[in-house]
Amino acid sequence: SRDFRVVVLGSAGVGKSALVQRWVRGNFREAYLPTIEDTYRQVLGCSHKVGALHITDTTGGRRYRGLQRLAIARGHAFILVYSVTKKHTLEELKPLYHLIRELKGNNPLKCPIILVGNKCDESHREVSEKEGAACASEWNCAFLETSAKMNINVQELFQMLLNHEKKPAASA
Ligand code: GDP
Ligand code: MG
Repeated sequence: SRDFRVVVLGSAGVGKSALVQRWVRGNFREAYLPTIEDTYRQVLGCSHKVGALHITDTTGGRRYRGLQRLAIARGHAFILVYSVTKKHTLEELKPLYHLIRELKGNNPLKCPIILVGNKCDESHREVSEKEGAACASEWNCAFLETSAKMNINVQELFQMLLNHEKKPAASA
């Protein structure tokens, strides 16, 4: 099938659900609703056939490592989210990045990863754009700073994945 599964990973509270909501529903909520795992399905008309984009919004909790591992194993592309306001959330992505590489291999064309620094609207920062970009180049992945709140770079983020999905290399 032409189904394409995107998995959104990162610590609790960084804005994973907010980014997905912003893109899928076009809105933003201040309230924090912890998720275990949600899946969204967007039907897309690709170049030839119609396929579906599945977005798995995961939980950051340690108790759900098994679910995380399964989501990664089934995923075709990954969004690794940290908050620019909390340095430890970037550090916490490191084991997830290594787990993706372990389960999916090292070919960035086959398995794209986008590193996302969310909450770029906040004036209080612990991670500069430069530090985020340096981490992304170390990991050989794409990088964007976003704000689900102010709707900055959210379209661009999902568009990057869709552009990749249209390439034949990703259809395997
Ligand atoms: P998740 O645990 O990663 O799914 O995080 P949520 O999407 O539930 O967001 C956690 C909290 O951060 C909520 O209170 C959101 O309103 C807030 N939040 C999410 N995205 C942004 C953003 O881009 N900017 C700001 N300032 N707050 C955000
Ligand atoms: Mg969530």
